[in-house]
Amino acid sequence: MSRIAYVNGRYLPHRQAAIHVEDRGFQFADGVYEVIGVQGGCLIDERPHLERLARSLAALSIKAPMGERSLAHVMRETVRRNRVRSGILYLQITRGVARRDHAFPADAAPSLVMTARGNTMRAQEIAEKGCVAITVPDIRWKRCDIKTVSLLANVLAKQQANDVAAFEAIQVDEDGFITEGSTTNVWIIGQDGVLVTRPADHAILDGVTRRAIITLAARAALIFEERAFSVDEAKAAAEAFLTGTTAFVMPVTRIDDSAIGDGVPGPFSLRLLADYMAHAAAGGDCS
Ligand code: PLP
Repeated sequence: MSRIAYVNGRYLPHRQAAIHVEDRGFQFADGVYEVIGVQGGCLIDERPHLERLARSLAALSIKAPMGERSLAHVMRETVRRNRVRSGILYLQITRGVARRDHAFPADAAPSLVMTARGNTMRAQEIAEKGCVAITVPDIRWKRCDIKTVSLLANVLAKQQANDVAAFEAIQVDEDGFITEGSTTNVWIIGQDGVLVTRPADHAILDGVTRRAIITLAARAALIFEERAFSVDEAKAAAEAFLTGTTAFVMPVTRIDDSAIGDGVPGPFSLRLLADYMAHAAAGGDCS
């Protein structure tokens, strides 16, 4: 079956799906995106994803290409036409097509693209193996809270991880504090049992999975602190894990050359993974 993409009002086979050479997303990375999980054909945590999309658009003064109801319809239709039961929906909005000039064009219509595809990751595999992460300097700009398609620093970081067969590159700010992974938020559980993640300021993306975990941790009565933590603190932690739409809750067993805890996925991380998978299975909106 050929994959179908939605491009500015049309559903097209991928090989025919194209964007104009002067689209500002292509020339300036002048656009935003969302990746939404799909379980059982339903969209997981659709509302917070759409709210974050609205915040990203507003931050860059890009007009929404259509109303929320129409957008929700196209999202479902893209998932349906690709017959995705378990996977992701990718949605991208750019400022649109205009003669190349840095300043905003006066009258460009925003471009909207969506694709959908099946999952490669299985919760069971994640729980059994966990992952290895490396640390890299965070070389990004100062508005990482906006989910823009300007991802070159994240791409370079992920490639550094790939080059040494690690799953993720954990980015570190100039003061030695962890910001986030290239595609994930980072968490630790200290030797005192306290769950810690960095506050969602301008230095990180406020992950939708991150927000779900905060709720699930409260339900599990875990003590939780939102504060910055250093690489040294992470390496000395009892457990560490990453969260994201594609990584779910991914235990980290090693950071650089340091084993985390016993070097195997820890009990709290596995508990939160199980709780998150239940949340994803129950929380999908199929309407
Ligand atoms: N941080 C970064 C830089 C990301 O790119 C992502 C996801 O793409 C996340 C965190 C996790 O966000 P979410 O849980 O909404 O997928």
